[in-house]
Amino acid sequence: SSRSASPIAADRIKVSFEFFPPKSGDMEATLWESISRLAPFNPDFVSVTYGAGGSTKQPTLNTVSRIAEETALAAAAHLTCVGATREAVDAVAREFQAAGIKHFVALRGDAQGGIGAKYVPHPDGYGNAAELVAGLKAIDDFEISVAAYPEKHPESPDYALDIDMLKRKVDNGASRAITQFFFENDHYERYVERVRKAGIFIPIVPGILPIHNFGQVSRFASMCGASVPARLAHRFEGLENDPETRALVATALAAEQVNDLIERGVDDFHFYTMNRAQLVYAICHILGLRGNKDGTAQKSRKSGGMGAAA
Ligand code: FAD
Repeated sequence: SSRSASPIAADRIKVSFEFFPPKSGDMEATLWESISRLAPFNPDFVSVTYGAGGSTKQPTLNTVSRIAEETALAAAAHLTCVGATREAVDAVAREFQAAGIKHFVALRGDAQGGIGAKYVPHPDGYGNAAELVAGLKAIDDFEISVAAYPEKHPESPDYALDIDMLKRKVDNGASRAITQFFFENDHYERYVERVRKAGIFIPIVPGILPIHNFGQVSRFASMCGASVPARLAHRFEGLENDPETRALVATALAAEQVNDLIERGVDDFHFYTMNRAQLVYAICHILGLRGNKDGTAQKSRKSGGMGAAA
């Protein structure tokens, strides 16, 4: 009895889009094409990732600054604290603040040596994301989003400790959690139940990853503790050299996932765009969202969305 999002659902749906800072001129052009293409969906915010250890400080700053200057979009900067002193992290936060950033996605970052390596906090640094949230809040009353893990973080021995960490981030001032990607909505639903039981009431926004490349996603998922159901492998089987069909299959899959989440009562979605617009554009369209025909960002989704047409 699956039904797609009704016009009424479309009216209450919120989306946000995540990008990463470009590493070359070509990648920069692709990023900006993607931002322009997705902007008409009037996202709640767009966010730009930050390399663990500060490796992308300047490109991240350049990207969020340009979004703030040239678009009507609200830009959020990711910020990590791994491998840096508190003073250094605070200084970066102030630079972002001076560029007009009022919203941070506050993260610890992965251990130097990559996912799976043992995390060792910098002796003069923030020990984890919860401490970083407190540090940012001491600078200004920023809007702060944090990470959450429906299948728990790989370093968490159990769900209780994982959710206790989320609780500390919320107690220190986070007002939204964005989840690691997941492919089984039951994982998300069970996690949200546990989170609510723990007395956490901020939005837990599902992070949706359209699968541009199944092999890459599987490898990455195994490192960050996200499971990949066998039926997904089956869907992509034999399409290794057929990118066009892969894109259609990936769009259908993500649309199924998102529509099922809507039926479960979710109305806010964060998309990992991988800096590409095509799949996310199609998924948002299927969700019922409509951009302005002239391609400009809308101030209010209602003015051009399904709600107005209905
Ligand atoms: P934390 O919440 O600090 O900790 C994660 C886990 O570590 C906890 O659940 C707990 O199990 C354990 N832990 C930490 N401190 C303690 C303690 N004192 N006692 C006991 N256990 C502890 N990475 C980037 O480098 N750049 C990005 O831009 C980026 N963006 C992301 C966006 C989202 C939405 C998500 C979900 C992840 C992102 N990441 C990014 C990845 C993230 O940095 C890693 O998942 C990292 O390993 C954990 O970061 P965190 O903020 O969740 O850490």
